[in-house]
Amino acid sequence: MTHASAAAQFISNEPRTDWHDSSLWWVRQKRDMAAHQIPEWEQLRELASRIKLNVLSELDEYLVQFEDNAQRNGVTVHWAADAKEHNEIVLSILRRHEYTKMVKSKSMLTEECHLNPFLEANGIEVIDTDLGERIVQLEENVPSHIVMPAIHMKKEEIGELFHEKIGTEAGNADPQYLTEAARGHLREYFLKAEAALTGVNFAIANTGGVVVCTNEGNADMGVHLAKVQIHSMGMEKIIPRAEDLGVFTRLLARSATGQPITVYTAHHHRPKPGGEMHIIIVDNGRSRQLGRKDFRKSLACIRCGACMNTCPIYRRSGGHSYGYTVPGPIGSILTPGIDLKKHKDLPFASTLCGSCADVCPVKIDIHHQLYKWRQVITEEKAQSAGKGFAMNMAAWLFRHPWLYRMAGKMGRLALKITPRALVYNRWNDWGKDRELPTPPKQSFGEWYRKNR
Ligand code: SF4
Repeated sequence: MTHASAAAQFISNEPRTDWHDSSLWWVRQKRDMAAHQIPEWEQLRELASRIKLNVLSELDEYLVQFEDNAQRNGVTVHWAADAKEHNEIVLSILRRHEYTKMVKSKSMLTEECHLNPFLEANGIEVIDTDLGERIVQLEENVPSHIVMPAIHMKKEEIGELFHEKIGTEAGNADPQYLTEAARGHLREYFLKAEAALTGVNFAIANTGGVVVCTNEGNADMGVHLAKVQIHSMGMEKIIPRAEDLGVFTRLLARSATGQPITVYTAHHHRPKPGGEMHIIIVDNGRSRQLGRKDFRKSLACIRCGACMNTCPIYRRSGGHSYGYTVPGPIGSILTPGIDLKKHKDLPFASTLCGSCADVCPVKIDIHHQLYKWRQVITEEKAQSAGKGFAMNMAAWLFRHPWLYRMAGKMGRLALKITPRALVYNRWNDWGKDRELPTPPKQSFGEWYRKNR
């Protein structure tokens, strides 16, 4: 399904679209207020951007430094070239201990790797412990936002889901009640879990430690209770030094939700006594993206979600319409690099207004990269045959001014006499929500020649 047709389904529920739009805009406004309280906000963004650019240009060395330091701390470091390898590494760790239960805290990387279905097919019970993730897991769905995974659902729908799946009171959608019910429900799994897996927000090269930011403390509880802890990280999550961390933690929570800092910022450096700590460093297409000079900066992303909250297309089309783990403006840059044919419509799901780049805490030139992808898609002739034909015709017309003028004259005349049903019909997507202005009697060129 294309982004446009998936978005059409979302938009067909108008109250939901309005509510989704205004909820995310509210988060964007919170972000603005939080950012304006920091006088050096722009310097922080600049610094974060430079640190990340440095990391990307020296990534091989930082990764090796990180691995050395982590191993020195007693951590087992694994390298996964792709999603399949990542999933097999996780399974092999669990199998070695004959474990059948694992708790997981929010990790978009494991969503990207489709870890849950893989482990479940291999007899492992995986429980997502982030509240939003647990909601979408119970819904048998996928996250629609990287920071607020269940933002597509209203509290009444969550109340119904919880009633059906975990036995809460019918008709009770009180957020406090539902949160407490989820806490009780998840506590059971935390206590039974044999292994815990978390994502990684930052991996510090000069200490070999990983940092995980959550608001619910679920990652910490999972890791502290289970004997085996696993941290899955994309290879771009590196920052050079522990001193650099403050730059990113100050930017991350403010950009994501407007909070000064996430409630929990956990540092994991070595296994607990009697325990095991594994870090899996995953490539899964990132090296390829690093090699594309026009798009490499997309790897600086710290997954705050601010570009989604501000994007007029994301807010009114919903995260599921993008058909990929990371939706919104940044997802539309990452996905064509994974499969150009499959995701060729995503760089066009943007107004190119640039609001995403304005709020991005690491100053990724998102709208420029989207525009660049459009050029690549055109050059590689990956767009639909109809669109390619129309663009070639337009280019040909623009190269022949007298034909262009003639076409304009005929078009103005045709629009006057053509029956409405021939112009506004189901094949004319553009006309579904728009009205053409009344055609003028003359073109601007004709008017100008008469009046200059
Ligand atoms: S691209 Fe920038 S704004 Fe968007 S999620 Fe990544 S860091 Fe946040």
